[in-house]
Amino acid sequence: MKPIPDLHSHSTASDGTLSPEALVRRAASAGVRVLALTDHDTTEGLEEATGAAQALGMVLVPGVEISVTWGVRTVHVVGLNVDRHNGVLSQGLARAMEQRAWRAEEIGRKLAKHGVEGAYEGAKALSNGRLIGRTHFARFLVGQRLAASTGEVFKRFLTRGKPGHVSVQWATLEEAVGWIRAAGGQAVIAHPARYDLTRTRMLRLIGEFRELGGVGIEVVTGSHSRDDAFTFARHAREQRLLASAGSDFHGPENPWVELGRLPALPQGCTPIWQDWTCLPDDAASVRAAVG
Ligand code: AMP
Ligand code: MN
Ligand code: MN
Ligand code: MN
Repeated sequence: MKPIPDLHSHSTASDGTLSPEALVRRAASAGVRVLALTDHDTTEGLEEATGAAQALGMVLVPGVEISVTWGVRTVHVVGLNVDRHNGVLSQGLARAMEQRAWRAEEIGRKLAKHGVEGAYEGAKALSNGRLIGRTHFARFLVGQRLAASTGEVFKRFLTRGKPGHVSVQWATLEEAVGWIRAAGGQAVIAHPARYDLTRTRMLRLIGEFRELGGVGIEVVTGSHSRDDAFTFARHAREQRLLASAGSDFHGPENPWVELGRLPALPQGCTPIWQDWTCLPDDAASVRAAVG
């Protein structure tokens, strides 16, 4: 079986636990031929990942996962095949980075008020000198035995209404799609089933996204059930979006999401990689990984 492209993954440049190089090596060992590195709000891991992929004869798709505020919700938009040197994209991401730096300090202050000392310093120490995300706080609190799992930390401390929650006005959908397009990339709605939207709201999100020039939606992802995949395959077909697939791998600590294990896209989807020129020489086998 030829694993289909994995177009969503994280490294230590954001909240993954493997360096870009180690991530690429693991993907190669798992049989992945085409991997996108899509760190949260940063392209800083792409240079290292690209070099590592070249050495292994793998295709590294330069990507990014942009945090977006849509109404009251946070939605993630993945950009694929972006030019990391593009000024519009870099400036947009620089703003997100400032917001993240401010939010991290604020989360630290709020947790301290709640009796959790040293969380900012602890999260920072786990962030490799790169951006500090909520996942770094979650790992620190688990390390302090304040919770049994990162999922529990999110539930008890870091989500809306909880003591360490800090709300941020991320990029608008228009900005995120605009930055990705300015950088020559394709914008993709990440893990749509995670937003808990009614069908009406989902159609509104997709409609606005398409209007702005977004072209794809994740159908197969590490956070979708097989039913979700069929639901969003239908959305992709009916709303004329290209279908994407990505594990959303963050590291080997999380055994239920692994590289190289993605199921094929459901029948009838048009894969986002269909017309890519960056695929391996025997691209037909990759293109055929549908159905
Ligand atoms: P941030 O972008 O810093 O607000 O953090 C979002 C990231 O936190 C996501 O990309 C996931 O990696 C992680 N995350 C979000 N919700 C959960 C959860 N319930 N359990 C574990 N990790 C989560
Ligand atoms: Mn993450
Ligand atoms: Mn995400
Ligand atoms: Mn992700």
